[in-house]
Amino acid sequence: MSSSIVTVRTIADLRGHVTGWKRDGESVGVVPTMGALHAGHLALVEAAKQRCDRVIVTLFVNPKQFERADDLAAYPRTEEADRQQLAPYGPDVLYAPTGETMYPQSFATTISVGGVSEGLCGAHRPGHFDGVATVVTKLFMQTQADVAFFGEKDYQQLQVIRRMTSDLDIPVEIVGVPTVREADGLALSSRNAYLTAAERGVAPALNRALCRVAEGLVEGQPASKLTADAIEEIRGAGFRDVDYVEVREAGTLRPIERLEGEARVLGAAWLGKARLIDNVPAFPRAAAGGNG
Ligand code: AMP
Repeated sequence: MSSSIVTVRTIADLRGHVTGWKRDGESVGVVPTMGALHAGHLALVEAAKQRCDRVIVTLFVNPKQFERADDLAAYPRTEEADRQQLAPYGPDVLYAPTGETMYPQSFATTISVGGVSEGLCGAHRPGHFDGVATVVTKLFMQTQADVAFFGEKDYQQLQVIRRMTSDLDIPVEIVGVPTVREADGLALSSRNAYLTAAERGVAPALNRALCRVAEGLVEGQPASKLTADAIEEIRGAGFRDVDYVEVREAGTLRPIERLEGEARVLGAAWLGKARLIDNVPAFPRAAAGGNG
């Protein structure tokens, strides 16, 4: 199958497209990805197409957000298949820069976001969110996008990017898109490809445990007891290690013990070679409905 998507690898070529669009008064959306695309990524592209006149999908496996060299080396790279998956969704440009374009030898800048990047995945993946913030800032500057689309699947990342964009007065609107899941609740992830058939059967236990925490919170139970039970449940299901299960205030990611406003239950756990993450919302009864 041939694709009509223009693939661009240099900043100059990208700017050529964007400058023309902006001159014509068209809005530009960007969907940053690391490739190995699945229906979760495609939901972001759909949201971007609905909202913006022009859509850029970026594809760059960002070495700065991997804290382990073996994890970076193993990350799936499937550019041609990605292009074919994207074609029916009609983005205007696939921007797939080289490592040298993104990080030339002389590169020496790091964007580091405090507060929301601490704890949760930040505690288990040192430097990860600095790498994310740095590459996303570069992608924003390169694409000059008006709107950027990120998945709630990586909820802490979404909050880090919201904070950074606000703090640095970057003129881009951040849109969060709900997590796309398999029928059994497993959040779609490029890392699900690492699971064996047996592990794939176990994997939905993470989502089930997080949902149980959310239900318990709504019933008025304390977070500490619910999360301790969830960790036991995830281990019991066959995960080999649980990095965390925590309840946080939805916007600030401040730890909370009781459900008062909108909260998120977030978890990360190891299943075989894969580190799976997921999160679900929890709303107090009075505020429940409509946002779930
Ligand atoms: P990645 O390629 O893993 O860096 O992800 C690129 C974007 O896709 C990020 O904004 C992710 O949050 C988003 N994403 C990944 N998986 C999902 C999913 N299952 N549902 C919605 N968005 C997702």
